[in-house]
Parts: sequence; C-alpha cells; structure tokens
Amino acid sequence: MKVAIIGGGVIGLCCAYYLNKEGYEVTVIDRNDITYGCSFGNMGYISPSHFIPLASPGIIRQGLKWMLSSSSPFYIKPRLNRDLILWAMAFRRNASEEKLQENIPHLNNLLQLSRQLMNDLKNEFHDSFDMIEKGCWTLYKNSKTGDHEKHLAEQAAKLGVKTEIYDAQQVQAYEPEVEVNIAGGILWLDDCHLDPAKFMKALHSYLQNKGVKFLLSTEVKGFERMNGAINSIITNNEKIRSDEIIIANGSWMPGIASLAGIHLLMQPGKGYSVVYENLEKNLHHPSILIEERTAMTPIDRWLRIGGTMELSGHSPAILPKRVMAIYEAVKKYFPALDILQPQPEKAWYGYRPVTPDGLPYIGRHSKYSNLTFAGGHAMLGLSAAAATGRLVNEIISHQSTSIDISAFDPERFR
Ligand SMILES: Cc1cc2nc3c(=O)[nH]c(=O)nc-3n(C[C@H](O)[C@H](O)[C@H](O)COP(=O)(O)OP(=O)(O)OC[C@H]3O[C@@H](n4cnc5c(N)ncnc54)[C@H](O)[C@@H]3O)c2cc1C
Repeated sequence: MKVAIIGGGVIGLCCAYYLNKEGYEVTVIDRNDITYGCSFGNMGYISPSHFIPLASPGIIRQGLKWMLSSSSPFYIKPRLNRDLILWAMAFRRNASEEKLQENIPHLNNLLQLSRQLMNDLKNEFHDSFDMIEKGCWTLYKNSKTGDHEKHLAEQAAKLGVKTEIYDAQQVQAYEPEVEVNIAGGILWLDDCHLDPAKFMKALHSYLQNKGVKFLLSTEVKGFERMNGAINSIITNNEKIRSDEIIIANGSWMPGIASLAGIHLLMQPGKGYSVVYENLEKNLHHPSILIEERTAMTPIDRWLRIGGTMELSGHSPAILPKRVMAIYEAVKKYFPALDILQPQPEKAWYGYRPVTPDGLPYIGRHSKYSNLTFAGGHAMLGLSAAAATGRLVNEIISHQSTSIDISAFDPERFR
C-alpha cells in the first residue's frame, strides 16, 4: 500500500520511519530540501519535563504584560485576521484550569512514549545523532519563580517524571566552567538533547537507504478527490496517486488543509536561535532560563541559544530587539560566558506549529477515508516526533494505538 507524507520535517520523517518499518511504500513530499522547516535549528530538547500544555491559566495575563515590551519573549503582531482571532478565542477557552488538568495526562503520555522510543532510535542508528542523556536545567533568579518550579516538580513526580532540586552553589558545582548568577535550579533527569540537524540528516539518509522516496522541491498545490477519498495529490511537478495521505507540513498545515476543504486552527509561532562554536568555556547541561523564557543547548564546545514566541504570521522579517533579548537573557544568568553579541540578520528562525490548546493534531479526519493529520506540536515537535510517527503507523495500520489519542483529534475545534 502506498502512503504519501506531505512535509519532510521531523514529524514527517518519523512517520516515514515507522510506516516504512511496517512495510508500506512511503513517499515524502517537501517543497524545500527538508532543511527549511522548524526541525533543523530548534533547541534539540527531548523534554518529558514539558507536560504542561501551552494553553494554561495565567499565560494570557503574562502574555499581555509581555506584549508591552519590545524585547519580551512573547509578541503578537496586532492585525485583523479572522484565523488569528478564531485561534485566540479558542486559546482563551482552553487556558482554563479544568482544561489544563484534562490535557496534562495526554501530553505526558505522548512525551513519555516518545522519550522511550528515542532510546530505540538511538540504538538502531548506533548513536549517530549524539543523543546526550544528562537531563536539563530549569534555572531561576527569584524565589517566587523557584517556588513555582518546585511545585511543578511535585506535579511531575506524580506523573513519573524525575527531578532533583538544587541551590545556586550546587548548580555551580554541576557547571564548573561558567559562573552562574541564579537563585537555584531543578534538574529534569529524564530530559535529553541532541543536535536536531544531525538527527534530521540521520533520519533522511536512513530512510533513503530503506527505499523511502523523497520528492523534494515539490510543492503540494491541490488534491483530486473521489467517493469520500483523496486519490491524488497535485504538485507543481506531477500528480501522485496514494492510498493514504498524511499531512505533516508543520505550521503551514492550515493552507494544505484548506486545499482539501478543511478549516484548521493553527498559528505559526516564530522563534530564533543563534549558534556559537569553539567556546573555551561552556555549560555542561542544557538550560532553560525560566524568567526570560530562553533556552541554551551546549554540545561539547558548541552552544545554541534561542527563544521568543512571535505570532506574526509567516514573515521573514527578523526583529533585532528580540534576537538581542535572547543574548541579554543569557548574560543575566551566565555573566562571564564569553559569547559575542549576535548579528540579528544572521539568526536562524523557525515557525512552531501552535494549536489553540497546545496539543497536537494526530488522527484521521472524518471528511475523507484516507486522510490523517500529524502536526501542531508547538515547542514539542522533536520531543514528540517518535511517538507521533508510531501512532500514525498504528492509525494507518488499523491497530489499537499505544496511547489514547482522543485529545489529539484534528476536528476538536470544529
Ligand atoms: C527556537 C525554537 C526552538 C525549539 N526547540 C525545540 C526543542 O528543543 N524541542 C522540541 O521538541 N521542539 C522544539 N521546537 C519546536 C520544533 O522545532 C517544532 O515543533 C518541529 O520542528 C515541527 O516539526 P514539523 O515536522 O511539524 O514541521 P517543520 O519542521 O516546519 O516541517 C514542515 C515541512 O513541511 C514542508 N512544507 C510546507 N508546506 C508545504 C507544501 N505546500 N508542500 C510540500 N511541503 C511543504 C516545509 O518545507 C517543511 O520542511 C523549537 C522551535 C523553535 C522555533
């Protein structure tokens, strides 16, 4: 049976991995060369620690405060856009305590499953993407944030997520090369990290060797439908017949969905990252700087810093103040870290695919007998990619799914 996957980001490639293993004839279609999407320059975290979905109580108040500052970690470009308004209204409805408590176990199950599957991938790929299993810091500068983080660690324990709580001196002992300027930190022991570009390249060459067909520089332009099914994908180059179609094109998903007559709520959440090489002194663990919503990923002498969430549509404009804010945040926590001010125009940026509740879309759509969605993981696409791939294979193969996927229903905001 033929399966076509639209989108060669980490979600598309992980779907291809599990479908190919099951014996399907898989084709991945991408309008670029797989290096363009959000999956290449992200922070590389695989984070069971992130079991709180993006839509949560307090986020709207905090977001409104942040919007008043041009260098804050969050920004919505004010504009009269129907989809943005519908998305914001749905986000607001989902940011309730009740909805949060309902959604946490589902996100936790997805992240835990993915974390386990990453161990299998690490073995199968002979560790070729350098997955480092040291945990991840959340570091805080004030005690109020510390109390919040400790409360989170208590919640985490109930979900089986392991943490250790340290004061500033103890964190410093774990980070002997760079002076820390913090009040304390929590080490999330189950988290791990990797270089996402290496992971993507490893998946790509593995899949090519296994016979997965890649149609790159090929843009999907439409669908041919008949009797409640999509029987062909129309691209700028050719018409592709397929028995099953998976839409996995990240933050561009609403555009493709609309070609199939489906309205989907999603916003691109732009984020930036900057890379430093050959650092003499570096961190030993990835670190999230909580008050500043900034992340740092060290791999040996290499360091990536990144953050911000900009809801400004798909726009190539780089806002220099927000890139500089990432650098300045790092300097507040690690004042002696020897890194140069970034050149904003050289920063990498990617668009997180953000749904109104912070949960992905994974599942079939009832409009067609052969259409499945896989995406909308916001800041957790890499963390949840392996599990998403496994679940999509189970859906296509009519197997019972490894975890309950009802909360990921792509039609839940209809
Ligand atoms: C700064 C930053 C840091 C992040 N850090 C992390 C992290 O540490 N851990 C984590 O888990 N997540 C992280 N994320 C989020 C993560 O990167 C995304 O969730 C993930 O990459 C989304 O993957 P995807 O495959 O859904 O989409 P993408 O990687 O965006 O891939 C979509 C693909 O679809 C293709 N496409 C689009 N339209 C078409 C079309 N019409 N026809 C054909 N092809 C098409 C695109 O070319 C693209 O290759 C981060 C994101 C940002 C911005």
